[in-house]
Amino acid sequence: MGGSVIEYPVIWLQCATCTGCSVSVLNSVSPSIKNVLIDEVIPGKHINLRFQATIMAGAGDMVIEEMEETWQNKKGSYVLVVEGAIPTAGDGAYGSIGEKDGKVVSMLSRVESLGRDASATIALGTCAAFGGIAAATPNPSQCLSVGRIFKLYNIATPLINIPGCPPHPDWFVGTLASVLLQGLPEPRDLDEHKRPKAFFAQLIHENCPRRAYFDEGKFAKRFGEPGCLNELGCKGPVTYADCPLRRWNGGVSWCIGAASPCIGCTEPGFPDLLSPFYQKLTEVALPSIGQSPRGGV
Ligand code: SF4
Ligand code: SF4
Repeated sequence: MGGSVIEYPVIWLQCATCTGCSVSVLNSVSPSIKNVLIDEVIPGKHINLRFQATIMAGAGDMVIEEMEETWQNKKGSYVLVVEGAIPTAGDGAYGSIGEKDGKVVSMLSRVESLGRDASATIALGTCAAFGGIAAATPNPSQCLSVGRIFKLYNIATPLINIPGCPPHPDWFVGTLASVLLQGLPEPRDLDEHKRPKAFFAQLIHENCPRRAYFDEGKFAKRFGEPGCLNELGCKGPVTYADCPLRRWNGGVSWCIGAASPCIGCTEPGFPDLLSPFYQKLTEVALPSIGQSPRGGV
């Protein structure tokens, strides 16, 4: 890289997460994660990942100091990525990231302080975007989404939600590249749940290769049978994502391509409002085709 490359600091916090979102992004195929982190994703612009607990070589006070230094010295110019929901019970006692002056610092406190001073925040994965599995009933640690935390603490930092359990790597890398190339998305570029329309504008059901079966009323009664998966619980009619077109694992396959119903993993309210996963959509109190079941915390 030449001297004219602009560095874009990124701090990636992992809160109440299974780390699946990290694993998914690390499996990015084009560009590879090596390209994302080492090369200029956009000519002249380089993502400078300052803190990411899963892939950092360092640990302990050293990396926490690095994160805090980036926070203090790059206010208003770093991008914050949050993976996982944020535990709020007991004033955030159920999850911490590092220490300050010998005292643990809660995830809640980190998201609040780092979120307030970021140029933009990306809530990566359904837990960060909408609460997800971490906030599912009974939610003893009172996990909330990043959006809810921002609202509670009057944080006005622009927020982009990239849901998915896990999110597709392209959804994250594409969004980050778009921010570097064109700046923050306009409100018209995001849907009502702050999801980029570039990836979440169409229903799974609109582009599903089994749609002809649905229109013909030919439904699979058992797993492995040909036919639409509606009677086996498919949530494609209420789920917005481009999985049928993009597919997963470098375009190899995707949920319905592997004969599994879509379980609605990109929707607010997942998993509670999309459950039971293998029960027909019309037999539960869900809205009709195209209407999101809403929810999310
Ligand atoms: S219900 Fe599911 S399997 Fe059937 S056409 Fe719609 S998205 Fe495809
Ligand atoms: S097909 Fe449905 S469940 Fe599968 S990844 Fe896409 S949105 Fe999630």
